[in-house]
Amino acid sequence: MSLLSVQGLSKSFGGVQAVQGVSFQLAAGELLALIGPNGAGKSTTFNLLDGQLAPDGGRVLLDGRDITGLAPRRIWRLGVGRTFQIAQTFASFTVLQNVQLALLSHDKKTWGWWRAADRHRARDALALLAQVGMEPQAQRPCSELAYGDVKRVELAMALAHAPRLLLMDEPTAGMAPAERLALMRLVQRLARERRMGVLFTEHSMDVVFGQADRVAVLVRGQLLAEGTPQQIRGDARVQAAYLGA
Ligand code: ADP
Ligand code: MG
Repeated sequence: MSLLSVQGLSKSFGGVQAVQGVSFQLAAGELLALIGPNGAGKSTTFNLLDGQLAPDGGRVLLDGRDITGLAPRRIWRLGVGRTFQIAQTFASFTVLQNVQLALLSHDKKTWGWWRAADRHRARDALALLAQVGMEPQAQRPCSELAYGDVKRVELAMALAHAPRLLLMDEPTAGMAPAERLALMRLVQRLARERRMGVLFTEHSMDVVFGQADRVAVLVRGQLLAEGTPQQIRGDARVQAAYLGA
């Protein structure tokens, strides 16, 4: 069974059919790149998957469970995490504090920032920072970090919740090409280790074809093609509609 099964998902805004009958599957441990020109419906698809928007039609199944139209908080609790195009961290807090806060928001039982539970969270936070290569910078405020490093902190914050599915909308926006590849290599490694599915959007074709296991191409709200990077690269319709542009 797929980790994520998207079946005939649709959403319109007034007269604009942003997403029209989109279907795809995503397995645990797999990276699926959702690509397409601006306005193709990529962000709307993400918002439908994490509950920010309710679809007009179609279904979303997570491990076979229907999560269509559930509130964002419930979908998050069921194991769907998200990172954003503009990294969301608290700039004046340290790297460590940011990840501790993410752990705190995940942990229902041990509220209390200043209590003993905090020591455990510090240890867990350091372990997460080690996984993204940010442990040496744990005590620095996020405001002092290079942008690529803020992205790694944001990733550690998303991992604090141990998501089974991670949605990443343009995770490498604003990053230099070498940094982009490094970040997505890291995401790929973490996805394999944790058996976490990753759906991401990305403009750099080097990253898409180098790091994704499969690629889905969205054009004007519709899924034009879906397949391995090799299949998508060689698809004449994709080249005509998108890559050749
Ligand atoms: P992408 O992320 O692929 O660039 P979007 O999903 O943001 O595309 O947008 C798809 C289409 O839906 C666009 O035509 C956009 O203008 C429209 N759209 C997206 N969000 C809204 C909204 N909240 N209200 C009205 N129109 C929207
Ligand atoms: Mg977008």
